[in-house]
Amino acid sequence: MRTAICPGSFDPITLGHLNIIVRAAQIFDRVVVCVAANATKTSPMFTVEEKVEMVRRVTAPYPNVTVEVNRGLLAEFARQYEGSVLIKGLRAASDFDYEFQMDLINKRINPDLETMFLTADQRYTFLSSSIVREMARYGGELRGLVPEEIIGMIEAKANTQRG
Ligand code: ADP
Repeated sequence: MRTAICPGSFDPITLGHLNIIVRAAQIFDRVVVCVAANATKTSPMFTVEEKVEMVRRVTAPYPNVTVEVNRGLLAEFARQYEGSVLIKGLRAASDFDYEFQMDLINKRINPDLETMFLTADQRYTFLSSSIVREMARYGGELRGLVPEEIIGMIEAKANTQRG
């Protein structure tokens, strides 16, 4: 069984992330969405539990997609799924530079681990979690940026953080 691992911070999951996950689910037997719990990204908007809940909600229609939390190194996490491949989305050349570096580091830790790239859908090349957070903070329209099922959750969070 071939497993794709789709890693990210998903703070929150966007339609761009979901597009990559669904495309991977059509190619691979199974997709594990790996929510990073390490705090390298400063001041996340959502807790890990909230991120997982949102990913679970929007991937519920896809039976071969599951969600896991990773509290350590991704290259170590991947070892538990034999022959698994990391799937990353590429929006721009800047994504490539970063991902190329990550792949080299991952291979030092786990030489068998391959990374494959899917180009971002043209509708979502501009889209990132940070844009969604910014929009949410200022009460902007979230439809078209994130799945409808989680808009309420994001707006509620933005409201509490606005105080
Ligand atoms: P972000 O860059 O939005 O903070 P993550 O760190 O959670 O998101 O990114 C996880 C993965 O999802 C990365 O491989 C990233 O390139 C990919 N990704 C993020 N946004 C998009 C998008 N709009 N289209 C395609 N891939 C994306």
